[in-house]
Amino acid sequence: MFLKQYETGRTFVAKLDFGSDLLEELNKICVQEYINAGYIQVIGAVSSLKYGFFDQDIKEYIYTTYAYDESLEIVSCSGNVSVKDGKPFCHVHICAADKKGKCVGGHLVAGTSVYAAEVVIQEILGEDLIRELDDTTKLTLWK
Ligand code: ZN
Repeated sequence: MFLKQYETGRTFVAKLDFGSDLLEELNKICVQEYINAGYIQVIGAVSSLKYGFFDQDIKEYIYTTYAYDESLEIVSCSGNVSVKDGKPFCHVHICAADKKGKCVGGHLVAGTSVYAAEVVIQEILGEDLIRELDDTTKLTLWK
């Protein structure tokens, strides 16, 4: 098990621009504000959605793109911030619903277009939180 203790740092609140890329904007905030560890929560809506599913058998991500001509509600979108390849890295999962309430989601990747997004990022302070390739899972995990 991996267990470390952190203290609460700065809290950031952001409203993302219409048409911006959800994951890229989250990463941009963390780089700009030097947030090396923290957690993320987002609510709002997207006009297109791209996410990955990690296939544990082949140890690769399979990507799916949903592009509706109507917005999808972000039902849940949360993640964390750590350091990967020497810079802040947001690991975010998203679940979004269409107008019938049908939800899709997974591991958020670049390619998701913001319709409206309200973001809270909570920085945590303590030992470096570094992400590296894990030999067993082939995922980049905290070490
Ligand atoms: Zn993930």
